Amino acid sequence: MNGYLNGQFLPLAEAKVSVLDRGFVFGDGVYELVPVYSNKPFRLDEHLHRLQGSLAGIRLDDPHMLPGWRELVLRLIGMQDFADQSVYIQVTRGVAPRDHAFPKGVPPTVFMFAQPLVTSSPEQKAAGVCAVSAVDNRWLRCNIKAISLLANILLRQQAVDVDCAETVMLRDGFLTEGAASNIFVVKDGVLRAPPPSSLMLTGITYDVVLELAAAHGIPHEVRAISEAEVRNADELWMTSSTKEIMAIVKLDGAPVGAGMPGPLARKMDALYQTFKQQVMRA
Ligand code: PMP
Repeated sequence: MNGYLNGQFLPLAEAKVSVLDRGFVFGDGVYELVPVYSNKPFRLDEHLHRLQGSLAGIRLDDPHMLPGWRELVLRLIGMQDFADQSVYIQVTRGVAPRDHAFPKGVPPTVFMFAQPLVTSSPEQKAAGVCAVSAVDNRWLRCNIKAISLLANILLRQQAVDVDCAETVMLRDGFLTEGAASNIFVVKDGVLRAPPPSSLMLTGITYDVVLELAAAHGIPHEVRAISEAEVRNADELWMTSSTKEIMAIVKLDGAPVGAGMPGPLARKMDALYQTFKQQVMRA
C-alpha cells in the first residue's frame, strides 16, 4: 500500500486516473513533497500550509482540512516498509470534458504516494556539484507549487545536458532560484538569500536554513541578489528537501570561490543534520 487515490489506500500499480483528468490534460493541479526521516514527517504542517497556499493560488477548494491531511499522510507513512520516505501529494481539478473553464461540481483528484527518500550522500556533499545559469523564463507565479513543471524541466535539462546538477535562474539580472531548489550565496562570511516573492518557491529547507543561521549567529541577509553577486560568490548552495544543503562548486564552468564546498556550507549541513536528528527524536 504505497499509494492513495481519492479516499483509498492501494498499491501504486492499481491506482488509475482518467485520461480526462485535468492534471493530465492541462497540468491543472498542485503538489507537495514531504521528506520523512525514520517514519517522522519533517515540517509536515509547513508543507501542508504551503499546499493550502498553492490550492488557494489556483482557486481550488482544499479537499481536506489540516487534520485530515495530517491523518492521510501519517497513515500512508505507516504503511511503508522503509523508514526514510518522500511523500508526494498531488491535487488536481478533477476529471471533466476538456475545457479551460473550471468544471462545476467536480471533485478534485487527490493522489499520494511514498517512495524511499534519497538524499545526497556524504561523498556527494564533500565533492559538491556543478551548475549552469539560465534566464528564468517561467511564469510570474512561481510561489505556486504547480504540477505544470514544463519550464522547470526544460531549464533543469540544460544542466543535465552538461552533467551538472542544477540550473541557477536569473530574472532581470537578479537571482530567483534553482530549477528545483533554492539558491543561497555566501560572501565574506555573510549568507544571503533572495526574499520570498511570487518569483520563487519559498522552500521549507530555505526557511530551516535561515532559522538555523539566526539561531547560531551566522550573519545573514535576505535581499535581492544580483547576477554579479552570484558570479563573485565565495560559496553558492542549492537547498531542497531531497538535496538538503548542497554546495555548487562550479557555475557555467567557472569555479565558485575555491572550487570546493566552503566552510559555511559544511557548517550549515552539520547544523541541518543535527536539527533533523532532534526532529526524529521528538
Ligand atoms: N524551488 C523549486 C522550484 C523547487 O522545485 C523546490 C523543491 N521542491 C524548491 C525550491 C525547494 O523547496 P523545498 O526546500 O521545500 O524542497
